[in-house]
Amino acid sequence: ASKPAQDSRVTPMMAQYIEIKAANPDSLLFYRMGDFYELFFEDAEIASQALGIVLTKRGKHQGQDIPMCGVPVERADDYLQRLIGLGHRVAVCEQTEDPAEAKKRGSKSVVRRDVVRLVTPGTITEERLLEPGRANYLLAIARRRASDTQWCYGLAALDISTGHFVLSETDGTGLSAEIARFEPREILVPDVIHDDPELKSFWQETRASITPLSREGLDPASAERRLKSYFGVATLDAFGAFSPAEITAAGSALFYVEKTQIDSRPVLNPPSRDTSGAALAIDAATRANLELTRTLSGERAGSLLATIDCTVTPGGARLLAERLAGPLTHPGLIRDRQDSVTTLVENGDLRDRLRRILKRSPDLARALSRLSLGRGGPRDLACVRDGLFAARELGLELAIAPNLPRELSEAARVLQGLRTDVADRLSAALADELPLLKRDGGFIRAGFDPSLDELRELQQDSRRFIAALQARYATETGCRTLRVKHNHMIGYFVEVPQNVGEDLLKEPWKDTFVHRQTMAGAMRFSTMELGELESKIASAADRALKIELALFDEIVQVLLDLTADIASAAEAIAVIDVTAALADLAMRLDWTRPVVDTGLAFTIRGGRHPVVEAALKREGVPFIANDSDLSGKDAGHILLITGPNMGGKSTYLRQNALIVVLAQMGSYVPAKEAHIGIVDRLFSRVGAADDLARGRSTFMVEMVETAAILNQATARSLVILDEIGRGTATFDGLSIAWAAIEHLHETNRCRALFATHFHELTALAERMARISNATLKVTEWNGEVVFLHEVVPGAADRSYGLQVARLAGLPTAVVERAKTILSELERSDREAPKHALLDDLPLFAVPARSEPAPAPKQDGLREALAALDPDQMTPREALDALYRLKSQN
Ligand code: ADP
Repeated sequence: ASKPAQDSRVTPMMAQYIEIKAANPDSLLFYRMGDFYELFFEDAEIASQALGIVLTKRGKHQGQDIPMCGVPVERADDYLQRLIGLGHRVAVCEQTEDPAEAKKRGSKSVVRRDVVRLVTPGTITEERLLEPGRANYLLAIARRRASDTQWCYGLAALDISTGHFVLSETDGTGLSAEIARFEPREILVPDVIHDDPELKSFWQETRASITPLSREGLDPASAERRLKSYFGVATLDAFGAFSPAEITAAGSALFYVEKTQIDSRPVLNPPSRDTSGAALAIDAATRANLELTRTLSGERAGSLLATIDCTVTPGGARLLAERLAGPLTHPGLIRDRQDSVTTLVENGDLRDRLRRILKRSPDLARALSRLSLGRGGPRDLACVRDGLFAARELGLELAIAPNLPRELSEAARVLQGLRTDVADRLSAALADELPLLKRDGGFIRAGFDPSLDELRELQQDSRRFIAALQARYATETGCRTLRVKHNHMIGYFVEVPQNVGEDLLKEPWKDTFVHRQTMAGAMRFSTMELGELESKIASAADRALKIELALFDEIVQVLLDLTADIASAAEAIAVIDVTAALADLAMRLDWTRPVVDTGLAFTIRGGRHPVVEAALKREGVPFIANDSDLSGKDAGHILLITGPNMGGKSTYLRQNALIVVLAQMGSYVPAKEAHIGIVDRLFSRVGAADDLARGRSTFMVEMVETAAILNQATARSLVILDEIGRGTATFDGLSIAWAAIEHLHETNRCRALFATHFHELTALAERMARISNATLKVTEWNGEVVFLHEVVPGAADRSYGLQVARLAGLPTAVVERAKTILSELERSDREAPKHALLDDLPLFAVPARSEPAPAPKQDGLREALAALDPDQMTPREALDALYRLKSQN
């Protein structure tokens, strides 16, 4: 690939380019040249490939052609979107002075240029680059020592497109769940964390784009200073109590914002702390398996979120996604949300009126953010205007509603306290038709500003003069087809047919008409009078635009002074939208309000899987509702489900997990009745997806995930395990599944659903108190298997594998042959039953929780020594390790 090199013989422009590029080595440089952004050298090669645009050359560098490609400035957003989507970063370099200024310095001077912004996936604000219903988080991570063996991680999630800024803290085991909750577009990781061998595979797995950060901005003291200065406060106490790890992460996030936004300052909400432990922990694998916000294939359609999203505003859609990603664990907070949903379930009139207003409410938060960054246009002002009107109307609606519960009355209070007179001013100021860019002018309404009206009048008058002039020239020259026209090259001109033109070159006309161009069959002339009018019009237009831009800035300033209020209003609108949407959903789909408390109950009557039900409904097939009961007093119950493939085991397992997520996010749930003791962590290991990209087999992935569950689940957790041990030899698989259930029962003591095709496992129900069996009901009809999808107590008598195989279209000969083999196998199994072997196993293979296993005899020093990797250590770390070892001896 071609790379530029420093060279004294390069043109001044190339020298400037090379200097700017050298300062931004890891970004594609969009170098402004008139109406284009141009890319050179390797950047041009990468961009032309990625964007499918022509690669050409411009000039030479060290005797070689310089590869070049360009994108027009008005369409730059489209190209940026594609490059960002492909994981590139772009440095946008603008002309920072008028070309006329550069000329004044000398004929050889180049226009000054500077990078005004780095565009990265986590710092975009343009409407076209963002998904409306999805937050666009930049996530900064920092870590501090919690103890000799434990790290504690601080996370700062920042969405500069809305100003949302949240901090949280977690330990090493919770890190992946916490990152998965935010679904960030870009993660800022200090090199030390990024290169930690234990986390290495982690960064490779995430969908986010990873930006390594060198040491800058990493110490807590400077992070705190940065935060204080950004928010102009003397102490952070007013925002809440933050840990050093959180502050460090927040400092890195701000550092990066300043680095990418250069001179612009996005308006950010002060950081707020996500009270740790407040969110139901759902690790990345479980999230993926349950298809909460996207399906296993990565699409939004078909996910739980897409199925339940009836919000009508972008802000509402983002809040719903956030609530779904982070369900609560505090019953009081959950009930607050439920109360509000209930109010709007019961008061359908109010709900409909609110939703009608909400539909007219645009994306207030993002428009405000663009305006604050100086990237806003007239349509963003209109957006704020409409948002403020909607806020006022919503406030009035809620004002007359009786007995509002907490969430809604809080939203009402915010909206009623909002100053909306600025919206009236916006209405008076803005024209009906608005241009996209403010520099196009024409967005201020006639009658708003007298001096602007005067200038526009002047332009109009001048146009009338031109018409009059055309008439006069036509009479004087006797040419009826004479026209006054305009183009960008020569401005206003007179155009006449060739033969008339020849006359105008001579006396008496040649002093009045100055020849400019000869076209095929026509000639063009300019005149003094036209020239004068032209400059009058131009200067009036210029002055008019200046006035419009000044008015724009003035209005933006008024809005920015109200930023905090408008941001709270945007949040209140989102809360109302989410609440009304969940109420609407509950009404239409006949959902119920679950009882949530701190016990270990888990009783669901008539539960359904919302996504499968929606899919079946489209085909006109009814969904069979099923009950579940995993309740326990001081330990949960385990339900072991056997049954044929296609019977509905996975659906049943998942629906129970989804009902928990919905209940704890404050929603109603798809059931007739539900009582759920708060779940602290949700684990699922459902289905087997080979992960060849990571070079792990299905079985390995399955075991890694199972290990995480057995190590972390508590009595408050809910565990969903589907077909554990399937990926290996039968006896291996069976014994792993057996031991895993014992462990769940004795050690984790959690509520669990366990689907399996190992019928041998049903024997566990007789041996262990809190395990029972259930199966999916099946009948046969004309020799065909019929799935009733009904969960009933007991164990499956048969697997119906051959019938399912036939349904799937396996050739008849193969099915017949399989039947013969099966009866042969069953005969030999009867003669030497392996159940005998299982019956010999000691009852409790796993020591009960109350009596911890004696620690195996081990040499701690040897182990610690073996854990060290001298090649990965700095001399200082090696010395520290040596001291630690010595102190253990
Ligand atoms: P299994 O895990 O037992 O192989 P699944 O849960 O994947 O079975 O279900 C197979 C299919 O059966 C589903 O795609 C769905 O169409 C249908 N199904 C499952 N549960 C129900 C139900 N409760 N009511 C109606 N149809 C169902």
